[in-house]
Amino acid sequence: MSFKDLQLNRPLLRAIAETGYDEPTLVQEKTIPLVLNKKDVIVSAQTGTGKTAAFALPILQLLYDKQDASKKGKKIRALIVSPTRELAIQIGENFKNYSTYTNLRSTVVYGGASIEPQVDALKKGVDILIATPGRLLDLHKQDIANLDYVETLVLDEADLMLDMGFIDDVKKIERLCTKEKQILLFSATIPYKVEQLANTILKAPKRVEVAPNSSTSKNINQLLYYVPKANKIELCLHLLRNTIKGSILIFRRTKYGVEKLEQTLLKNGYKVDSIHGDKSQNLRQEALINFKSNKVNILIATDVAARGIDINNLDAVINFDLPNVPETYVHRIGRTARAGNTGASYSFCSADEKSYVKTIQQLIQIQIDVIDEHPYPLDPKAKPMIHKSKKTGSKHRKGRKSEASKKKKKRWY
Ligand code: AMP
Repeated sequence: MSFKDLQLNRPLLRAIAETGYDEPTLVQEKTIPLVLNKKDVIVSAQTGTGKTAAFALPILQLLYDKQDASKKGKKIRALIVSPTRELAIQIGENFKNYSTYTNLRSTVVYGGASIEPQVDALKKGVDILIATPGRLLDLHKQDIANLDYVETLVLDEADLMLDMGFIDDVKKIERLCTKEKQILLFSATIPYKVEQLANTILKAPKRVEVAPNSSTSKNINQLLYYVPKANKIELCLHLLRNTIKGSILIFRRTKYGVEKLEQTLLKNGYKVDSIHGDKSQNLRQEALINFKSNKVNILIATDVAARGIDINNLDAVINFDLPNVPETYVHRIGRTARAGNTGASYSFCSADEKSYVKTIQQLIQIQIDVIDEHPYPLDPKAKPMIHKSKKTGSKHRKGRKSEASKKKKKRWY
């Protein structure tokens, strides 16, 4: 199927061609006709499937006919709600790209940044607003964001939005828009609470499922290192010195782990940056720009901070900590070896993570190659470490969480 077959208009086809897309992805093929038919849709698809264009393109097409309303008279007619600022910015970039040959205007609003430029942009009038929930509600309260004319509401990464505690905000936003609007709900997974939300706000939704990808590309050389937990940093340094080159994304489970590894790599002279939930918006954005522009070649991230973010074309992914959800492994390593390139993944498994290897291998139906020849092998008989509390003295010890982390309870990633 081609984009032409999807009945998209010329200005959009031209922008698509210039972006370099040859044909629609599966999720686009299935979703675009439904959106154009003004259906409510629940789409379960992960980042990397092309899901942003699956809603952005038909929304632009639907708005195109009314685009010549005088600029001052522009009303927000499409609203995209996104859980994180990075994702919102990325969606905004997509809209800007695809709308090059239209007069449709879009803007992005998110917290953690000065509100004035966002107010100015909204006052000038936009057709499409991409927003994080908190800032959107703020702007609505101040009578800056009028949602009375929203014809299409998109909830992106709905599962993450609910995990982050935005359920009430999302429901409120939905109520602030017109009753007649079309709702598109995108979610990587559809757990019960997403289903419940969909049942309360969507009308006779159509469903699109892009099967969670359980296969890994043949072009990824997947390697597994059994290593004691205490030696993971040494193993990482050893591999960076001798084996792994190019642009590298390293996943760690916790923010604390990300920080610790970043400090070690910096001390060892590596060009490295990181993203996690305790960093300010500016620092996170800066880290992404540094990485994408090759100013640094190593980025360390938590899964949630990296979620939805377009960081592809990597030479290698290091699973410093193994994920306990096997699909996350597929998702992580799928960021390398895109578009026919080759790539490699290096997974570090300590004694307490052995069961994760089992479930990952069951999912991908591949035995991952084990590399025994390295300086920090794990004793095969090693038992998982049992963490005994070393607490002494006052039980009101500070603990290892940063002050910023304690303040931002809602953001747990
Ligand atoms: P997304 O799942 O929306 O985050 O998109 C993942 C990546 O796929 C982005 O870099 C898009 O630019 C790219 N992409 C989206 N649609 C297509 C397409 N039809 N052909 C090739 N690449 C695409």
